[in-house]
Amino acid sequence: MRSHLLNDTTAEHYRRSVTEGIERVAAKLATTDRPFTGVAVDALSPRIDAIDLDKPLHDTAAVLDELEDVYLRDAVYFHHPRYLAHLNCPVVIPAVLGEAILSAVNSSLDTWDQSAGGTLIERKLIDWTTDRIGLGENADGVFTSGGTQSNLQALLLAREEAKPGRDGWEGPAGFAKLRIFASEVSHFSVKKSAKLLGLSEDSVVCLPVDHDKRMQTVALARELERCKQDGLVPMAVVATAGTTDFGSIDPLPEIAELCAQYGVWMHVDAAYGCGLLASVRHRDRIDGIERADSVTVDYHKSFFQPVSSSAVLVRDASTLRHATYHAEYLNPRRMVQERIPNQVDKSLQTTRRFDALKLWMTLRVMGADGIGQLFDEVCDLAVEGWKLLAADPRFDVVVQPTLSTLVFRYIPAAVTDPSEIDRANLYARKALFASGDAVVAGTKVGGRHYLKFTLLNPETTVDDMAAVLDLIAGHAEQYLGESLDRAS
Ligand SMILES: *Cc1c(COP(=O)(O)O)cnc(C)c1O
Repeated sequence: MRSHLLNDTTAEHYRRSVTEGIERVAAKLATTDRPFTGVAVDALSPRIDAIDLDKPLHDTAAVLDELEDVYLRDAVYFHHPRYLAHLNCPVVIPAVLGEAILSAVNSSLDTWDQSAGGTLIERKLIDWTTDRIGLGENADGVFTSGGTQSNLQALLLAREEAKPGRDGWEGPAGFAKLRIFASEVSHFSVKKSAKLLGLSEDSVVCLPVDHDKRMQTVALARELERCKQDGLVPMAVVATAGTTDFGSIDPLPEIAELCAQYGVWMHVDAAYGCGLLASVRHRDRIDGIERADSVTVDYHKSFFQPVSSSAVLVRDASTLRHATYHAEYLNPRRMVQERIPNQVDKSLQTTRRFDALKLWMTLRVMGADGIGQLFDEVCDLAVEGWKLLAADPRFDVVVQPTLSTLVFRYIPAAVTDPSEIDRANLYARKALFASGDAVVAGTKVGGRHYLKFTLLNPETTVDDMAAVLDLIAGHAEQYLGESLDRAS
């Protein structure tokens, strides 16, 4: 069994084994002609159930054969140009190389004595990101597992910063007085964070959005004022730079102004919109982000990085102390005086992947402009898709894209019942998924069911979008035809 331990004596085994796996994946990618096989849960689960984990195969090739059957054949492939559903991106090769290196070396970024250079590389990438944002000299941050964790950590810092010196603060009981302001189309992790942070159920004040799905700052001003009048404590405003559904960017400069006026922590959730930080042509769309107290970025959404790769950035490095705990065995207080950089002092996690290496490899091989160009391309593609939808009487499209999503629905010529239109669109999405020809997402707008393209693949073409729209229309019409048959 020792031959499976990766060490000085097994380098050849390692090389062969990993190469074998890479060959399989490469062959798979080269021959995948659809984003999905359309396999049903009921078809796949017996195959996995049948495997006895207590009876190992002892042979890598046999295990890879088996893996073909239970995973590779029926996986959802994001690199395919007709995968148009979620914010999971096709990945760039330098990052995949980084992934292979980081898991083989297996650094853990909690302490210097488990990573050495990895710690410095992560720190340099954090500085690079805060520079791109414009957070100033005292900025800092840390890599996280994703936007959800970044939002949680940012709001933890905001909660702790909201405590001192406030009238009527009564320890944990005072948590009930804290309020977070976010738009009605902000990410659900804001509410989840509020719950985890022990805030009250009505702590997140959902603000209405304008026609373009951007937070109405008039409403924000009104609610901040009301909060003050009611003797409550405004803890944070969460501005979304790239909403998950619409890609809309809240008016950051106006929000920054109001945050300054009311002394409130400004968090910018740029999990999706962070791609603009590398953009060659559209950087100005997130102007104002430099005024944030904290920022969430998901490199695994718009920097073409494999899951996970994310960070939380803060304007004032000292606020990260709210996540600092010392343990004798790991990061004793004296190490701070000795200036030993232990990233665990800044993180919610302890043992932590060296995800930063993927971004490092990407920037060193491709450069930021290379990533930015790819993101600009998908933003431009969304504009083309919007034109297509706006000119097509079969579809209703919600907003002109700021980033790379399109929310729309099929509107049958002969049907006026909105519930029947809902059902036709729901059916079309499911049927498309089951066919494996393409994958699209769904969401609700004004209580009605819509479909969504999330465009993150520069290989997707206008023709792909047109073909998928035709498929959607075909499935929806089929449903309506059958529905008529049922009625008669
Ligand atoms: C995806 C997303 C998140 C959550 O990020 P994860 O990496 O999935 O945890 C948060 N906010 C926004 C706006 C997002 O789009």
